[in-house]
Amino acid sequence: MEIVTKSKLVGNIAKGVNPLGCQKEIENQIQLVKDRGTYEGPKKVLVLGASSSYGLASRISTAFGSQADTIGVSFERGPVDENNIGTAGWYNCAYFKQYAQAAGLIAKNFIGDAFSKKMKDEVITYIKEEFGGKVDLVVYSIASPKRIHPDTGIVYTSAIKPIGQAVEGQNINLEKEILFDQKIDPATQSEIEGTIEVMGGEDWEMWIDELLENDCLTDDFKTVLYSYIGPECTHEFYHKGTLGLAKKDAEKAQKRMNKKLQRENKGEALISVSKVVTTKASAVIPILPLYCIALYKLMVEQGTHETSIMHKDRLLREMIYGDKPEYDELGRLRPDNWELDPKLQKEVTELMEKINAENFTTELTAYDLFRKEFMNLNGFSVDGVSDENELELESLMELTI
Ligand code: NAD
Repeated sequence: MEIVTKSKLVGNIAKGVNPLGCQKEIENQIQLVKDRGTYEGPKKVLVLGASSSYGLASRISTAFGSQADTIGVSFERGPVDENNIGTAGWYNCAYFKQYAQAAGLIAKNFIGDAFSKKMKDEVITYIKEEFGGKVDLVVYSIASPKRIHPDTGIVYTSAIKPIGQAVEGQNINLEKEILFDQKIDPATQSEIEGTIEVMGGEDWEMWIDELLENDCLTDDFKTVLYSYIGPECTHEFYHKGTLGLAKKDAEKAQKRMNKKLQRENKGEALISVSKVVTTKASAVIPILPLYCIALYKLMVEQGTHETSIMHKDRLLREMIYGDKPEYDELGRLRPDNWELDPKLQKEVTELMEKINAENFTTELTAYDLFRKEFMNLNGFSVDGVSDENELELESLMELTI
């Protein structure tokens, strides 16, 4: 049966998927890493949240930059019928596996709920029985709207909200290509707790505890979680909001984990404060898209603009496994230093003041780039690939994950 790929946006959520575009994007990311050459990095990597953006980029960098065998855990859907051909992340995992295997690397995908005990057990069994017994890097890159707690069964929901006071600002509606005023009411206590449960450090620690208990970590083991701080203009709804609190919770988990890892002589847990990039998650964070189109404009001009793959490859190659790590006073890695450069931030603030409903899509900003990067996430607006393709459903169903 023939299906035609079509891009569909609902607000800032992309609904359609273009498998050919996803495949090309995987090729492009692999090529970028190959062009940068190899580095001495990890060899046995587990990526939690491996199907898109930062997790996928980390997997591609370690596989094609450091010849790592990888396991990816993601929450995605494969093709079912002509009305439901699955998610971009599913195709990313399927195509990544093809390219990694062709390069002689192990690439194992687990599709399901990383928060569950069942998934942890399945992955650990696989590591012990088929992956050589140990991993030397665990990347924690999950962004999720909810989590079913494995011990209690309670369903927690995350909410990206300020704490204590409402925040007002302008946001971009990518579907209608308009700016709109946004008011985000402060989070309730249960929203604060829910966001910490979903996006905090507990699940990260559960994974590392279970891997440690099962003797699945090498002596030079490292684990990293991706955090965000961002500039002053985003602090009210991010750094000082619910997500910021969740990231603080992850820092507490990092400290606890480091004590356990040091006791067992098993390496370290790291937090990397990452730069803002165009992802499914960042497009639904209030006000952030407007900041992105100003920031990107200036970073492109100064040659420092990064996509997920550029940023994660730099982090892994130069900082975590290289000789240029930059830590802050709290011991966090700071590859976001380019974004937060004070001179740049002053210019971003000035530019944001000039942006309005009439000019936000013009050359004044990097709106076109932000939109393209956003569409690329689902395989659309990819250079050299048509958005509308006639594909055989059967051939998609034959792809293996
Ligand atoms: P994303 O939405 O692109 O990817 C999230 C990943 O988590 C996907 O692979 C998805 O399948 C997986 N996932 C979600 N729920 C899952 C579940 N229950 N079980 C298994 N996998 C699940 O997100 P992203 O933007 O790459 O964010 C990843 C991390 O990086 C987050 O912690 C985020 O806070 C952080 N971060 C993002 C940015 C940014 O600008 N996007 C900046 C700094 C830090």
